[in-house]
Amino acid sequence: MKTETPQPIHLTDYRPVPYLIDSVDLDFQLHPDATQVRARLSLRPNPASTTNNAPLVLDGEKIVLQSLVLDGALLQPSQYRVGEQSLTIANVPAAPFTLEIVTTCNPAANTELSGLYVSGGVFCTQCEAEGFRRITYFLDRPDVMARYTVRMEAERASVPVLLSNGNPREDGLIGGTTRHYAVWDDPFPKPSYLFALVAGDLGAVHDTFTTMSGRDVSLGIYVLKGNEDRCAWAMESLKESMRWDERRFGREYDLDVFNIVAVPDFNMGAMENKGLNVFNDKYILANPETATDADYVNIEAIIAHEYFHNWTGNRITCRDWFQLCLKEGLTVFRDQEFTSDLRSRAVKRISDVKTLRARQFPEDNGPLAHPPRPSAYIEINNFYTPTVYEKGAEICRMMLTLIGEQAFRKAMDLYFARHDGEAASVEQFVACMSDASGRDLSQFFTWYTQAGTPSVTAEGHYDAASKQYTLTLEQQVKPTPGQEQKQPLHIPLGIGLVGPDGADMPLDLDGVGTLNTPLIELRDQRQTFRFNNVAKRPVLSLNRGFSAPVKMEATLAMADELFLMGHDSDSFNRWEAGQRLGRKLVLDAYRGTAAEADVAAYAAALKKIIDDPAVDDAFKALMLVLPSEGEIAAALGAEVDTDKVHGARDGLRTALAAHLDGELGAIWQRTGEPGPYRPDPASTARRGLRQAALALMVMGNAKRGIALALAEFEAAHNMSAEMGALAALMQVDCPERETALDRFHARHAHEHLLIDKWLMLNAQAQGPNAAARIEALTRHPDFRWTTPNKVYALLSGFVGGNPAGFNAEDGSGYRVIADAIIRLDAINPQVASRLATGFRSCKLLNSSRKSAAQAELARILAEPSLSRDVFEIVSKIAGS
Ligand SMILES: [Zn+2]
Repeated sequence: MKTETPQPIHLTDYRPVPYLIDSVDLDFQLHPDATQVRARLSLRPNPASTTNNAPLVLDGEKIVLQSLVLDGALLQPSQYRVGEQSLTIANVPAAPFTLEIVTTCNPAANTELSGLYVSGGVFCTQCEAEGFRRITYFLDRPDVMARYTVRMEAERASVPVLLSNGNPREDGLIGGTTRHYAVWDDPFPKPSYLFALVAGDLGAVHDTFTTMSGRDVSLGIYVLKGNEDRCAWAMESLKESMRWDERRFGREYDLDVFNIVAVPDFNMGAMENKGLNVFNDKYILANPETATDADYVNIEAIIAHEYFHNWTGNRITCRDWFQLCLKEGLTVFRDQEFTSDLRSRAVKRISDVKTLRARQFPEDNGPLAHPPRPSAYIEINNFYTPTVYEKGAEICRMMLTLIGEQAFRKAMDLYFARHDGEAASVEQFVACMSDASGRDLSQFFTWYTQAGTPSVTAEGHYDAASKQYTLTLEQQVKPTPGQEQKQPLHIPLGIGLVGPDGADMPLDLDGVGTLNTPLIELRDQRQTFRFNNVAKRPVLSLNRGFSAPVKMEATLAMADELFLMGHDSDSFNRWEAGQRLGRKLVLDAYRGTAAEADVAAYAAALKKIIDDPAVDDAFKALMLVLPSEGEIAAALGAEVDTDKVHGARDGLRTALAAHLDGELGAIWQRTGEPGPYRPDPASTARRGLRQAALALMVMGNAKRGIALALAEFEAAHNMSAEMGALAALMQVDCPERETALDRFHARHAHEHLLIDKWLMLNAQAQGPNAAARIEALTRHPDFRWTTPNKVYALLSGFVGGNPAGFNAEDGSGYRVIADAIIRLDAINPQVASRLATGFRSCKLLNSSRKSAAQAELARILAEPSLSRDVFEIVSKIAGS
């Protein structure tokens, strides 16, 4: 906690570290409330450093120094200085030397879940980004890569399992005591943020994997006892990930063991520590009775993501935290490709774009906007953002689109060959793309350094006489905080000219000739493209596959949008045309200019898609969902009344449900569960369509819909069906909803992951007094402020999943969340600041809401000992 105003750290201030650490020997005497850590470090002056004989300044916080020995000699307190966040030794040798540091810490009291803590009785660590300094004094920055040996000693009975990074070397009993020990070696140099230790009474499942060069790797998943039978899906996903990385990127696993541990208290989703991934247990545990289809898909993707980090993040890490998107953007891109290869590429692309629009676009459009590679931060934990992750992945995807599949693979091979074992920068990564392809990517690089979502305006004109189609594109990025002036970006745009029969016409670009790849590149602010020999008037299909993360401002007539919705050969743009139309119709309803004929035409187009047996169920389900309330608010841009947005969107859904009554009923009839639950893509798609239909049926004919949902809930024998029925009920304020929620709680009172789902359902319940429900639930015995999953389910679930409730005009939603942020900041600042980002879009709202939000932000800022984390987020939003 700081009392002075926290100061930002700048990318331009990066300097090579004055000392390097070659090896680290750690010895842990594990006790829940007083763990002793002995660290033996081999240091030497860094030849790349520009400062000679610099004092040695080690990072450290919330640990107690016991002793310090330099080259065998005990240092006296006069020879060093211990500060609140550092340990400084003024004089150290100009040649290699060893330093032995003994410290103690209190894992049981660590509610911030950063460093060494206890979760469910298990010792566990989280070191990214700056948690290792809470374990020992260290040069805690990613460009210090060392080899680690870890020895752990603990009570044999209560802590039988002792795990760390790398390969196990030895273990045994400590004679004459109740304690035992284990030693682990990691042969690969790594930064301190990838250190991990897990120790406790854990159950495990084991398997093996044979790599492409024939090495056997032993795989383990460790869970709290009693959960062993819920790890099969995670294990299958792990093996699938290992196979895929060999096949697609030629990357083989490098240690003898790969272990995963699932713990109930975790700030993030999961962590890629070398050879010992630690997971939030909701992303490991699954069986049909407790996990939904979405859980199965998420588990598969997150296991893959953390595994893929072994090469993109661990073998090649980041030079500094400004380069975070180097590992995260690239690894998200890799996990997206993994899911696309395993499941439906079109459906995956659409759901990724939905996520981008729900999370990243609002960030880019508000006071928290920052480039994928930021240039300054106060607290790095605040930069694990959708921009760094999801927009970072979009940038990798655009490079693939620009240079092509083959050159991209060549570039990745070059990156691994050139930088293995190094802490790299985004520039070095892009240089590989450029060197392998021969393409100049200097203008493209601006994507990494410029914040804001570009909007691209397209104007097409067809001249029947000359058979020429002229397309004029213009790009623009609105100013973002600290970046008034914007540069034109290098934007790859997938394109199709769709003929009257629905087929794509040849693309004969003036001055270029026939395009081999249906792609144009917008590089100037305004640019015109002429296509020759266009036989008939085309309908423009632009940004196919969402080739660039931009907002397209096309001015297509409604008839053309309906045509694309029915005929575009690009599935993404088929869906996109439906979204644009849906958005237009909600906006019309909001403004009171809705035309019944337009709604009927839209419903008719949906009907055709539903009735088309060639279209898969997952795509149909996506077509039945209108753009979110957040997207509608962003499209309105200012003075938004969130109640009216909710009403307009639901009003359109009610009208569509009436038009589609027969189709929805038919879907319901044919999508029942034919046998035991299976998480395969086709079954998942079928259930997704069933749930989308049910959600609409509840809107169309509430009485019948509620009865169907209740019957489905009662008969359900898998969690997907149970949750689908309940989610549909949450849309309407009715007594049946409360009964069902109570029944769900009673059924699953002993399953902590299902209690989280129950909290999340409550958070989404629509109707008046939503904030009062949330406030009451924070006092429920099942809610715990110290468990991030509970906070995310109830409070983040309310902020993100109930925009009308959170933005209630009387300010009740803001008040409840502000109270929670203040309370959480003293327990876990990372969780508190994440919750605070929920206020980021309040400048879009009407004045009564805006001022209610501002008052709550001011109340948070007035707190006397605010963390850096919350201060940075709240001050940026309040100051905008
Ligand atoms: Zn990651």
